Amino acid sequence: QSRRLEGVDKNIWVEFVKLAATYSRVNLGQGFPDFPPPDFLKEALETALSRENYMLHQYTRAFGHPPLVKILAQFYGKLLGQDLDPMTDVMVTVGAYQALFCCFQAFVDEGDEVIIIEPFFDCYEPMVTMAGGTPVFIPLRPKAPEDGKMMSSADWKLDSAELASKFNERTKAIVLNSPNNPLGKVFSQGELELIADLCVKHDVLCISDEVYEWLVYDGKEHIRIASLPGMWDRTVIIGSAGKTFSATGWKVGWAVGPNRLLQHIRTMHQNSVYHCATIAQEAVAQVFQREFMLYGKPDSYFAQLPKELQKKRDWLVQSLDAAGMKPIIPEGTYFLLADISNFKSDVPDVPNSDEPYDSRFAKWMVKNKGLAAIPLSAFYCGAHKNNYSHFIRFCFAKEEATLKAANDILQKWK
Ligand code: PMP
Ligand code: GLN
Repeated sequence: QSRRLEGVDKNIWVEFVKLAATYSRVNLGQGFPDFPPPDFLKEALETALSRENYMLHQYTRAFGHPPLVKILAQFYGKLLGQDLDPMTDVMVTVGAYQALFCCFQAFVDEGDEVIIIEPFFDCYEPMVTMAGGTPVFIPLRPKAPEDGKMMSSADWKLDSAELASKFNERTKAIVLNSPNNPLGKVFSQGELELIADLCVKHDVLCISDEVYEWLVYDGKEHIRIASLPGMWDRTVIIGSAGKTFSATGWKVGWAVGPNRLLQHIRTMHQNSVYHCATIAQEAVAQVFQREFMLYGKPDSYFAQLPKELQKKRDWLVQSLDAAGMKPIIPEGTYFLLADISNFKSDVPDVPNSDEPYDSRFAKWMVKNKGLAAIPLSAFYCGAHKNNYSHFIRFCFAKEEATLKAANDILQKWK
């Protein structure tokens, strides 16, 4: 085993996907929709498969199928208000995962520090250490809501002085994930400005994981940090067709940013994956064309999906609240956290156990109640896990019948 693999052998998804497959009747664990993707996505794939398109079974351009990088450049160009070159400012990857991996490999050296905001999508930490870097963690701190109000993901905030204290001459990058998995927080303009100012002041890169960019609720706006002054030149935006078009198994992702950064991501890509499946890229290009035409209109999937998901969110919030598992209302993503403090008598604490309480609770719940969820502590570094171990994460991108079955389990708990 190489040294870079030390300490990164455990993986929450490998563990909980297996538990859910073995025990769950209702799976609100790993994040994927159990409803069908839109018909226009399937139609785009069918067209790509038609006989006259036989060349789509062969290799395409290594850094991204031309129709896909062209429409991504057009789309993000419009969102960011600047011209993007499809050949240099966009690269297609195997899901957002590969884009993230390429970023850390391309920019992080031994001794470099990378700031990660907790709770964080778990793979950032092993990816930074595998690149030889040192992750530096800063937690979002929850503030109790006003009396009688439910907590919102917006109640979890960065302390500006604490954030500033994490930047120094060794800081190479900060990872931003807005909307945030697992909390559902959508960072505000002020919070993004704070991060951006520190990045500019200390000459730090921003790896901006925006895979949930279209899943934002209650009329809130997702602001792209790359659009703030001084940030385009130092930001890599990461996106995912899996999240965007409710088809997580497609594993088509991308990185968008200036050529000065993307050139190194291309070097990493050409020496590892080299090329992503042509046919899936062609179909994703077609559906992005459709969304480009419909942008801002009610028929657009980017308008319809969050509308549907918001109803599901509200439904699960009510269900959890009625059961006494206090939810934190997410502003974005298709996840929400719920407080399991009232359920402690079901799974008594084991003092001095190495395993955080929420992890033991989630395992007990899937085995004894058939309901799968993910412990929040999985989204914290080792040193902070036990400070945040009384929440579990549910995915609400599910059919009504699935959410109803979850509700049955919750209401009949005792
Ligand atoms: N980033 C975040 C925040 C995620 O939740 C996920 C999981 N989909 C990914 C990246 C990876 O996305 P993909 O499935 O496109 O690799
Ligand atoms: N992003 C999804 C989640 O957070 C899936 C993660 C995975 O399968 N590795 O649940």
